[in-house]
Amino acid sequence: MPDTAETLEFQSEARQLLQLMIHSIYSNKDIFLRELVSNASDALDKLRLETFRDKELQAETDNLHVEIQLDADARTLTVRDNGIGMTRDDVVNLIGTIAKSGTAEFLRQLKESKDAAGQDLIGQFGVGFYSSFMVADKVTLVTRRAGTDEGVRWESSGEGTYTIEPVADAPQGTAVTLHLKPADDEDHLYDYTSPWKVREIVKRYSDFITWPVQMAKESTAGDEGNDAAGLETVNSMKALWARSKDEVSDEEYHEFYKHISHDWTDPLETVRMQAEGTFEYQALLFLPSRAPMDLFMRDAKRGVQLYVKRVFIMDDCEALMPNYLRFVKGVVDAQDLSLNVSREILQQDRQIRAIRRRLEKKILATLKTMMTEDAEKYATFWAEFGRAVKEGLLDDPENREQILEISSFESTHHAEKPTTLRDYVSRMKDGQEHIYYLTGESRSTIENSPHLEAFRAKGYEVLILTDPVDEMWADAVSGFDGKTFQSVAKGEVDLDEIPQERQDEYADLLKWMSATLDAVKEVRLSSRLTTSPSCIVGDAGDLTPTLEKMYRAMGQEMPQVKRILELNPDHALVTGLRTAFAEHPEDPSLVETAELLHGMALLAEGGDLPDPSRFLALVADRAAKAL
Ligand code: ADP
Ligand code: MG
Repeated sequence: MPDTAETLEFQSEARQLLQLMIHSIYSNKDIFLRELVSNASDALDKLRLETFRDKELQAETDNLHVEIQLDADARTLTVRDNGIGMTRDDVVNLIGTIAKSGTAEFLRQLKESKDAAGQDLIGQFGVGFYSSFMVADKVTLVTRRAGTDEGVRWESSGEGTYTIEPVADAPQGTAVTLHLKPADDEDHLYDYTSPWKVREIVKRYSDFITWPVQMAKESTAGDEGNDAAGLETVNSMKALWARSKDEVSDEEYHEFYKHISHDWTDPLETVRMQAEGTFEYQALLFLPSRAPMDLFMRDAKRGVQLYVKRVFIMDDCEALMPNYLRFVKGVVDAQDLSLNVSREILQQDRQIRAIRRRLEKKILATLKTMMTEDAEKYATFWAEFGRAVKEGLLDDPENREQILEISSFESTHHAEKPTTLRDYVSRMKDGQEHIYYLTGESRSTIENSPHLEAFRAKGYEVLILTDPVDEMWADAVSGFDGKTFQSVAKGEVDLDEIPQERQDEYADLLKWMSATLDAVKEVRLSSRLTTSPSCIVGDAGDLTPTLEKMYRAMGQEMPQVKRILELNPDHALVTGLRTAFAEHPEDPSLVETAELLHGMALLAEGGDLPDPSRFLALVADRAAKAL
């Protein structure tokens, strides 16, 4: 490691975020302290864990705590911890860059939004350490990783670069010193060297931190910062999940949620659980009010932390929450586990699996209640997380019925309001056996799809499914409440029998077309069409075109699935073709008409034409003849 100061550049995303912080658009600047205390508390958790894991680690573990030091003359505020600390590389990687997935996307959205919406977005993202730059024009960080003897000093004014240099004699852990901007009440920038103000902020945001947060005792001399009289603990350190419900205010729950979730917005719902007896645990869970940026990214974390007897064990505890509920945040504190448990052991542990089942059921039950008692809240929840929840229909067959019960779907019944399946079933027509649905890329392609025509004409309600996951579950899930799901774009539709004489009339044409059009498996008459001449349908067991595309995109070899072309026997183009075919079966323009009918059917369902330029030439040619 070089022993002189080096100047390094922030990674570009980090630089952009810092600019946002410096010209802060967020009015609640107090929260910088919550972020620093939260990092200090994490660092102490990590140290404790590390000493469990590594018995050789030469770390000081006495008197683990967070200390806040204020200096009114120098106008500094320092948050110090004697936790895990950082090496030089850690500092460069963790402080100089942002590894959070979704950062680039977040910055793009932020750029496009106006100021007010920007605030909202910041809330979704959580900026952690960088929030220091809302209140400081320079930040100094001195740190030493536990078990090493090389200290590091980092300093920056947040303007593109930072300096980093080795320091001798750094104590174990991290001290972050903010050189505060001048106080400006107008700008919600308070005097953060005031012990009163700082205590108040700690009480408000960090009371439940399980480590002592200490400050100099309030002395009567009034010069607190320099008074060596001693320290006192400012926070109560009470684990919220261990306190009885009526002892804890909503506000405390919300602050706790923000601490563990790194979200800046209040949660939508708080869920508490308590199990006594042979296997004792407490759980405090939250449903966020907004989906995180990375909800659908591969490395999205699960939001539940595991504690054992009040000691933090791990974040992102996948053994406690199924993947489709990965957005649920919270804490589970189990009494009878070893502090040494590993992720692998947890996956196998019978009791952990039992807890997981209970948590899952509880979340589903909470949603059920929300659905009936607070429709608006439920609608918010579903709009944010419905797409993830529907993954459960595939991943968790055991709870399928309950998941269907709390799901809702767009439908032809109402232009904006999604429907539950219960409500759909209650509106089913006499004799209707299936729950009809159609999948597609957007509501508008689906609504304009020829497949819907006869259903619309006859007044059958059809679910409009536009999420990628819909394609998959709709295939896998057989039914709800005894009614089977049926795609209106698949298989035969039994809305109307096609009379035998009709079939006979068309038999020759259909046979010829089936042989002529290579791209389709079969050509047949349709009872789903009223105004369109043709449509494409799949066989009951076939992959839908979207699924086919998805598998290809994932790199899977797929044989081309041939589908069925259906013709509307009452459409002028189709009757005309039949007459022309009967009169001059050898006419080459018949083939073109057949191709046109196929191409139109593909376009109508939002699909791709195999040869768009040929299709256009055919259309232009026909249009010219019609003039
Ligand atoms: P987050 O806490 O969400 O990860 P932050 O911006 O608050 O994001 O912090 C970035 C990272 O810097 C942390 O994940 C941690 O690894 C490291 N870090 C920050 N503060 C400390 C600290 N006091 N001690 C040790 N590591 C820290
Ligand atoms: Mg943090």
